[in-house]
Amino acid sequence: MKFRDLRRQYEYMKEEIDIAILEVLEDSNFISGRQVEELETSLAEYVGQKYCVSCANGTDALLLALMVWGIGSGDAVFVPDFTFFASGEVVSMIGATPVFVDIDKETFNISAEALEEAIIDTMNKSNLRPSVILAVDMFGQPADYPMLRKIAEKYDLKILEDGAQGFGGNIQGMRTRACGYGDISTTSFFPAKPLGAYGDGGAIFTDDDEIAELLCSLRVHGKGRNKYDNIRIGLNSRLDTIQAAILKVKFRVFKEKELWEVNQRAENYTKYLEELNTEKRKHYIKTPVIHPGFYSSWAQYTIQLPSKEVRDDLQRYLKQCEIPSMVYYVKPMHMQKAFIGKHYIAGELTNTVKVCDRALSLPIGPYISDKEQEQVIEQVKSFFDKC
Ligand SMILES: *Cc1c(COP(=O)(O)O)cnc(C)c1O
Repeated sequence: MKFRDLRRQYEYMKEEIDIAILEVLEDSNFISGRQVEELETSLAEYVGQKYCVSCANGTDALLLALMVWGIGSGDAVFVPDFTFFASGEVVSMIGATPVFVDIDKETFNISAEALEEAIIDTMNKSNLRPSVILAVDMFGQPADYPMLRKIAEKYDLKILEDGAQGFGGNIQGMRTRACGYGDISTTSFFPAKPLGAYGDGGAIFTDDDEIAELLCSLRVHGKGRNKYDNIRIGLNSRLDTIQAAILKVKFRVFKEKELWEVNQRAENYTKYLEELNTEKRKHYIKTPVIHPGFYSSWAQYTIQLPSKEVRDDLQRYLKQCEIPSMVYYVKPMHMQKAFIGKHYIAGELTNTVKVCDRALSLPIGPYISDKEQEQVIEQVKSFFDKC
């Protein structure tokens, strides 16, 4: 069993994907082929934003968003302490200061209370200027944007949605889907993400004409009229045509069958919930909590165990039974060596420390079979029955 079976996904769409790749080879427009714009148009429409600007990867997408806003030295950017390194990396990369904020231990997303405390602390006790809330849709569940929007308005901050894991999720009653909740939102097409390419890729979503135009310039060396007329310092960060062609096929499958892939993941979730969240097991397996009105794209299915020892033992046990599992994430951001001396501490980060010790992600997704999921459930149960 694979943790994420990309091979099976390919086999499912092989015919269409092979044709799409061959078409690009025939056309030989390897950079900025028509497929790139076609993909952007359909993704923007799906998310519910006016513009989608594709780029080379999800990290660059975040970086480009911060560049557009002119974020830099002296700016404080509030980032959840529990996320993939890139969410904080881009902040330091651009010369601003990440302020890591504790998470809600049920949703794994940035805690609104901890965020507000961190903003107040930063205003009162540092020389930094609070500028951006960089919220992450952790494991596929959108962050609490209605709440974050209130805080952003109160303190005059921008919201950058890191939707690298969030594509396909949504919040009931909102105008857009996930990747449309920030003032600027981003996603990643890294192969294992909810919508993955066969290499690196990313995208930025916005409703703002000026921001979209700037992004298009920044991703091609700060181009003016063309790439040899350079009016600002930018990056080389484009999505190549082959990846766009592959993504077009994958997005069709993702979307067309009534969100088939997302629905499959949701079915996996329900089954895990029924089997693992029973009276008997509640005390030692905490299944993920999705708040009412929130829909996860189930980038990951992450349970919490009572302690690091139990978590590590369970993972070892599963490995012996040839069941793959992953620890997302091993370390809080504020404990990563790269950030030593580069971030500002504005409050307790206790939930994140706990979750890093206790979280374990189990296989989920449209391409694991019912039988495989049953095996996972059976072995998790048998581990505890033996204890
Ligand atoms: C994967 C990921 C990224 C980075 O995406 P890349 O395409 O790998 O650069 C950023 N943030 C989060 C939360 C991610 O999971």
